[in-house]
Amino acid sequence: MAEDLLIVKNLKKYYPITGGVFGKEVGVVKAVDDVSFTVKRGETLGLVGESGCGKSTTGRSLMRLIEPTAGEVVFDGTNITSLKPEEMRKMRRDMQIVFQDPFASLNPRHNVEKILEEPLIVHGIGDAAERKQRVSEMLEVVGLSSYHAQRYPHQFSGGQRQRIGIARALMLNPKLIVADEPVSALDVSIQSQVLNLMQDLQKNLSLTYLFIAHDLSVVRHISDRVGVMYLGRIVELTTSEQLYQNPLHPYTKALLSAVPTPDPDAKRERIILQGDLPSPANPPSGCTFHTRCPHVTDECRSVRPQFRDVGSGHFVACHLYNA
Ligand code: SF4
Repeated sequence: MAEDLLIVKNLKKYYPITGGVFGKEVGVVKAVDDVSFTVKRGETLGLVGESGCGKSTTGRSLMRLIEPTAGEVVFDGTNITSLKPEEMRKMRRDMQIVFQDPFASLNPRHNVEKILEEPLIVHGIGDAAERKQRVSEMLEVVGLSSYHAQRYPHQFSGGQRQRIGIARALMLNPKLIVADEPVSALDVSIQSQVLNLMQDLQKNLSLTYLFIAHDLSVVRHISDRVGVMYLGRIVELTTSEQLYQNPLHPYTKALLSAVPTPDPDAKRERIILQGDLPSPANPPSGCTFHTRCPHVTDECRSVRPQFRDVGSGHFVACHLYNA
């Protein structure tokens, strides 16, 4: 079995809420609250959940694009949480991010060649001719052509722009790509082209993905395992197949009940969740899902369920599955 490339232990990202004339801290928003998982070399781990559940903050905190409040991240055998800024900058060669909105993440005043060679310049790699050569190669790898190098982001379609975003992430030959909603801004017809490209690249370049999305059907398409997040915590994590065949957590069941199935005979009862997503500034006590859960008991309101393995690496945080 492949070894772990990424180990995330008890990751937390809290934002202070300040108030009053003196800007005193009056509370905290627990955007990521004690999240632990691993990603094996060559694996795709999907992270799903509603908007505001903390999945993007998890991706950015583990790369230290934003500093985590607590927790440990071990990447390729190195504890990166304790690295100094210069050491971390070097480590980022191996861990790259693809953003949701390629238009916002590509500098509109730079042509594609300048955009793609920038990571090489920052890390002092190659001379001008070598960088130009690498840009041409990478454009071909993502299904574009070398003549696209002289064009500007606005001259491309959304799908092409995301290919450029992926090419930029690949310029330094990374080991891990954190893909933060990489197809959410694209038309459905284009989404599968980009997902197929990502899968081909993974195979050919031995990449490992942390794939963040709110759409369960997109995550299923690409992930080996999937973690479901709710209010800053992972509530269920298992293989893609197990999650879709045998979801355990009531929140996962509700999310899945809303996903259309390709089989018209398959009957799945839609579970409508009551209430809105509570604020992470004031999360419910005990199980944070208790305000919306159809199976809530008194214990759920006061005791936080442990996130535990209930068999064969199927993790769930719910009192219904206590031994
Ligand atoms: Fe529902 Fe209780 Fe399980 Fe939380 S712990 S998901 S409230 S049954």
